[in-house]
Amino acid sequence: MFTFHSRHALQEHLNAQRALGKKVGLVPTMGALHEGHIALLRLCQKHCDVSVVSIFVNPLQFNNREDLEKYPVQNEKDLALLKQSNCDVVYLPEEKDILSNEIPSVHIDLGVLDKVLEGTFRPGHFDGVVQIVHRLFKITEPHLAVFGEKDLQQAAVVKKLQRTYYPNVKILVAPTQREPNGLAMSSRNLRLSENGKKKAGVIFDSFQKAKAARSEIKPLEIVRDVVLNIKAQNLDVEYVAIVEADSFEDLTKENNWMPNAYICCAVICEGVRLIDNISLEKN
Ligand code: AMP
Repeated sequence: MFTFHSRHALQEHLNAQRALGKKVGLVPTMGALHEGHIALLRLCQKHCDVSVVSIFVNPLQFNNREDLEKYPVQNEKDLALLKQSNCDVVYLPEEKDILSNEIPSVHIDLGVLDKVLEGTFRPGHFDGVVQIVHRLFKITEPHLAVFGEKDLQQAAVVKKLQRTYYPNVKILVAPTQREPNGLAMSSRNLRLSENGKKKAGVIFDSFQKAKAARSEIKPLEIVRDVVLNIKAQNLDVEYVAIVEADSFEDLTKENNWMPNAYICCAVICEGVRLIDNISLEKN
């Protein structure tokens, strides 16, 4: 496994690989890796010859200073896990390497994507995501890039970036990996106590109930029930909403079903912000 801290050295390596006819795949992460990230790497490995995992805690996408300061960093452990998972290349840049002014920023109009759910609660977050993914695409010129459905709205934002500026990059979205109690794996779970993790299992439980009730109950009522269930565990709810997964049109507002409906939430447990979603369509 090759580890690069410099984008120029990384580019040289990837250019040589491409000259040999190898397909390059990218998995962007913020580190503190878990099985969810490794599932993305596996999907990348299935489709590419050279898999690049980037690890960078992107300050541009944190609207809350404390959240950034508390974000877990465990580079040595991450590198060991990636090596064990047969990752080919790791890009672990310092801020000045990836945020260099030599790579101009991009602007895209995210429309409604930036104005609902995560967009409302984390102003500027998606522009930060766009800037970093754009830089990673510029640097690595991937054949494809893999993102997690866990961050559904982020995946929709990345697809918009891809359509606008990177039509030749294929975007794959991998399913959410969960703990045995249904809690979505997340680097932030490292900050939860065992009791917190147990309580946060209510998110997936109530989502499953919502899915079962989908054919009988309207979106608004489902959202109401999910909020009540989550609050019953003394967790704070920032939002629960049902959306169409590509446009992020809010189906709760219309109180009518559409195909491709997902239920999404942001919940605070022990001061840690957790997001999750599932498809409400039949499997
Ligand atoms: P992060 O390091 O949290 O920024 O996540 C990096 C990538 O891993 C993003 O595309 C996430 O959507 C994805 N990811 C995070 N958690 C999970 C999970 N539990 N299952 C699958 N993918 C995930």
